[in-house]
Amino acid sequence: MAAKIALIAHDGKKDEIVDFAKTYRDLLVAYQLVATGTTGQRIAEATGLPVHRMRSGPLGGDAQIAAQVAEGEVTAVIFLVDPLYAHPHEPDIQGLLRICNVYNTPLATNVATAVLILEGLEELAEQADAAAN
Ligand code: PGA
Repeated sequence: MAAKIALIAHDGKKDEIVDFAKTYRDLLVAYQLVATGTTGQRIAEATGLPVHRMRSGPLGGDAQIAAQVAEGEVTAVIFLVDPLYAHPHEPDIQGLLRICNVYNTPLATNVATAVLILEGLEELAEQADAAAN
């Protein structure tokens, strides 16, 4: 089964994650994608990629994704946080960031790092292919 990437963006970052998903669609198509509710809807509409949608972040979506990270189901988390606004679900946001660090799961909180993670995963996949052949 394909590795899973989690995608989350705060409202002020939704356009950025949509642009990112469109730009890197060719790489993202190789993964299972999971996202918080609204982020997932926006990405699915913009790219046509299948995205498994959890609840919206403020309604527990971040916590649902944190649980998947804790279960070892998620290869990387791309979580574009908006540093300029307070969020009602700040405890859940911190919980997800913390769980990524507990499990040493790659975590991008901005697009620059998200690109490095995707490119890094691609390189690892190519190396694994080369080693297998
Ligand atoms: P959303 O949740 O994708 O449902 O907007 C993201 C968040 O605010 O954590």
